[in-house]
Amino acid sequence: MTYDTNNIFAKILRGEIPNKTVLENEYVLAFHDIHPQAPVHILVIPKGAYTDIGDFGAHASEKEIAEFYRAVSQIAKDAGLTAEGYRVVANTGVNGGQDVPHFHVHIIGGEKLGSSLRRS
Ligand code: 5GP
Repeated sequence: MTYDTNNIFAKILRGEIPNKTVLENEYVLAFHDIHPQAPVHILVIPKGAYTDIGDFGAHASEKEIAEFYRAVSQIAKDAGLTAEGYRVVANTGVNGGQDVPHFHVHIIGGEKLGSSLRRS
């Protein structure tokens, strides 16, 4: 899949759309989801232009990958989710229900979550 430079997260990275930032560094931006599905719902995106987890895993540098996963765990810790637990989700492609074609993970928590393994 070719990267669409006009996707909503590309616009957020360019500062064209505001966001409620949780963490930002050279490699990663994290912000609150505009339609939270739980008391805590944070999106974490790499600053590089990757369409999905497969593109990220295949083409991102070791540093980008390391910084991304370090950021995910740090954000969860800073949000107070570590003790009670949380979920990290990477919707991928049509069957996975990915709406925004810039790789991202959802960090969801703050309450007991239902099963995420159902078909619908
Ligand atoms: P996906 O379905 O691609 O895994 O998730 C995309 C997520 O992006 C959704 O949870 C949706 O609520 C969120 N989202 C879409 N547009 C915006 C926006 O403009 N700002 C923020 N903060 N979140 C957005």
